[in-house]
Amino acid sequence: MVYTDPYSPDRSYYECRDCGHRETAESLESCPECDGVVRNIAVARE
Ligand SMILES: [Zn+2]
Repeated sequence: MVYTDPYSPDRSYYECRDCGHRETAESLESCPECDGVVRNIAVARE
């Protein structure tokens, strides 16, 4: 139960390359949905 505020600037944004699932977390090694590879798509514009 670690659903955090998706707008928190301290979190990174990850997208699964396999199923497209998106997750906001401090760090994510694999997709919680399909265990696929995720990539960091965080857009932290200053
Ligand atoms: Zn996935």
